[in-house]
Amino acid sequence: MPSFLDLDPDTPFPLQNLPYGVFKPRDRSAPRVGVAIGDFVLDLSVLEEAGLFEDAEVRRRRPFSQDTLNAFMAMGRPVWHDVRRRLQTLLDAGTPTLRDDEALRDRAFYRRADVELVLPVDIGDYTDFYSSREHATNVGTLFRGKDHALPPNWLYLPVGYHGRASSVVLSGTPVRRPHGQIKPEDGPPVFGPSRMLDFELEMGCFVGPGNPLGEPIPIARAMDHVFGLVLVNDWSARDIQKWEYVPLGPFLGKNFATTISPWVVPLEALEPFRCAGPAQDPEPLPYLQPPAPLGAFDIHLEVSLRTARMEAAYRLCRSNTRHLYWSMAQQIAHHTVGGCNLRPGDLLASGTISGPTPGSYGSLLELTWRGAHPVTLPSGETRTFLEDGDTVIMTAWAEGDGYRVDFGEAVGTVIGGG
Ligand code: MN
Repeated sequence: MPSFLDLDPDTPFPLQNLPYGVFKPRDRSAPRVGVAIGDFVLDLSVLEEAGLFEDAEVRRRRPFSQDTLNAFMAMGRPVWHDVRRRLQTLLDAGTPTLRDDEALRDRAFYRRADVELVLPVDIGDYTDFYSSREHATNVGTLFRGKDHALPPNWLYLPVGYHGRASSVVLSGTPVRRPHGQIKPEDGPPVFGPSRMLDFELEMGCFVGPGNPLGEPIPIARAMDHVFGLVLVNDWSARDIQKWEYVPLGPFLGKNFATTISPWVVPLEALEPFRCAGPAQDPEPLPYLQPPAPLGAFDIHLEVSLRTARMEAAYRLCRSNTRHLYWSMAQQIAHHTVGGCNLRPGDLLASGTISGPTPGSYGSLLELTWRGAHPVTLPSGETRTFLEDGDTVIMTAWAEGDGYRVDFGEAVGTVIGGG
C-alpha cells in the first residue's frame, strides 16, 4: 500500500495502522480527532469540513470536530470500516484529492512533533480483569502460597473488578507516589508513602456501541462492541493493596493512576494478527464458549525502565497478548451476562500479561519475586520496586509482512508523594 507521503518502511504508523487520537495543534486551542500516519497527524476535522467523508452518518454528526472519540466510537463497525477505507484511499499514491491539493494538505497535516496529544476518550467506566493465568498464579503464590495460588473460580470465569476512570491519564503524565495504610509484619498499620510501587503491563480495549441495561452481549457478537486497543499501565501499590484487598478487592492500591497510550489502534488493523489463545480446561460454560477458535491476538509487548541516573532505558520484560487465558470476547460476554450495560468509551483492561518464563513477567512483583531477586540495571543500581524518578516505558506492536502495527508508548515517571 504505497502512499504519496513516501513513508519510511519502518514507520510505526503505516497505512495498515491508522490509529485514532485527539490532539491540539500548537497554534490553535480546540482539540480535534486525527490519525497518525508516518511522522504526521492527519486532521480528520479538516477532511470532515471539506466534505471528504461519504458516510451519511459521519456527514450528519461530524464526529471528528469533537474533543473526544466517543461519538465516533458509538457509531459502530460499519461506519468505522467506511472511514478507514476512505482514509486509506485518500492517502493512497493513486488518489489526487489530497496529493494534488497543496492548500488542503497544508491545513490537514501536522508533524507529530508539533501537536499536543490529549486523553482521546471520555472514559465513563474502567474495568480491570485478571486474565493471565501465569500472572494470577504468580501473584497468588506470593500472596497466599502455592497451594492456594489460583482461586477456585479462576478457571471458570474471567475475574475482574470495577476500577476508577477518573484517574486514567495519558502517557507522559507524571505519577505521584501514593500514601496509604501499610501493615508491617508485626504491629498495627502505619500511614506513609508506598514502598512497593509497581507497574502492570496490560492491554486495554475501548468499547464502541454499548448495550441496553438488562440485555447481555452474546459472545458471538462481543467483538462488534470493540472499537480499538491501547496499552495500559495499571500502576499498583503492592503494600497498600496487600492490606486492603480482603474482602472486596483492589481499592487505593490501584486508584491513584492508570496510564494509557495516546493512539487507539482500531480492531480492524489487528484482525490479521488473530491467533489461538491457550487451551481452556475445564471447558467454559456455554455463555463463555468462543464462537471462533482465534480469540487471541499476537501482539508483542515490552517494558523498559530508565532511572534518573540512566541515559538509555533498560528492557525488563517481553511478553505477548497471546498468553491471555480469557479472551476479550469472553470478558465482554461475562461483564454483561448479568445485565450490566457497557457504554461507548468504557475501558476494559486485560490484567497483567505475564508469559510462561521469568523474562516475560509483566510486573516487578513477579520479576523480582517480591523483592527476593532484585533487578540489576546497567547503571549498577538495583530495583525491587520503583523509586522516585524512575520512568516506566511500555511498548507494543504486531509484526506484519513488511510492516508493523505499532501502539506507540505508554510512559510514566514516578514523582515523590511529598
Ligand atoms: Mn491490573
